[in-house]
Amino acid sequence: MAEKKVGSRREFLGKASALRVKMVILGSSGVGKSSLALRFSKDEFKNSSPTVGCAYLTQVVCLHDVTLRFEIWDTAGQEKYHSVTPLYYRGAHAALVVYDISKRESFVRAQLWLRELEKHYIPGETVVGLVGNKTDLPNIRQVSLQEGQSLAESKGLVFMETSAKSGEQTSELLLNIAHRVNQRTMDKDR
Ligand code: GDP
Repeated sequence: MAEKKVGSRREFLGKASALRVKMVILGSSGVGKSSLALRFSKDEFKNSSPTVGCAYLTQVVCLHDVTLRFEIWDTAGQEKYHSVTPLYYRGAHAALVVYDISKRESFVRAQLWLRELEKHYIPGETVVGLVGNKTDLPNIRQVSLQEGQSLAESKGLVFMETSAKSGEQTSELLLNIAHRVNQRTMDKDR
């Protein structure tokens, strides 16, 4: 029978252990937040702006003896007002700040989103990733790989460039985040 450890995110279902992970996605409109959520969850891409149509999408990631049940939250258009409700951030174990590598303005805005995010999370608790999306558009790239890398390094963030359209590096990104969230949970449980 399923047993839940009170006050912990770790649920014991028979012998398997499942960790609930809330992951929020931030960034300017049009950078591909909903598309990434859809790629992570259903491994699909839609050319028009996908409407998630629910609070969050889910995906399960298995790491050796641990299963992580991701709840992937999309801003649902709130970012148009350059901020999102504090409720969105509450209890987030991971956050991705996304920019579009073909739009410099979105990279500038990503730095503002990172500052906004810093107001809401406890350092050392939330795993934060910086994501340069749309690598399938190399001919119109406006932000270099090095610029993204050095911004992430300066803030100690996970960094990856992805394409929600082709799926390039999207499962690697989710796996990377899963490993780090699991590591933090193990460190806290010790
Ligand atoms: P959001 O506003 O940040 O949620 O962005 P959407 O996911 O709605 O995507 C905005 C537009 O960019 C849509 O037309 C998507 O089809 C497109 N898009 C999203 N990701 C990619 C990508 O990796 N490559 C390309 N070429 N287009 C993308």
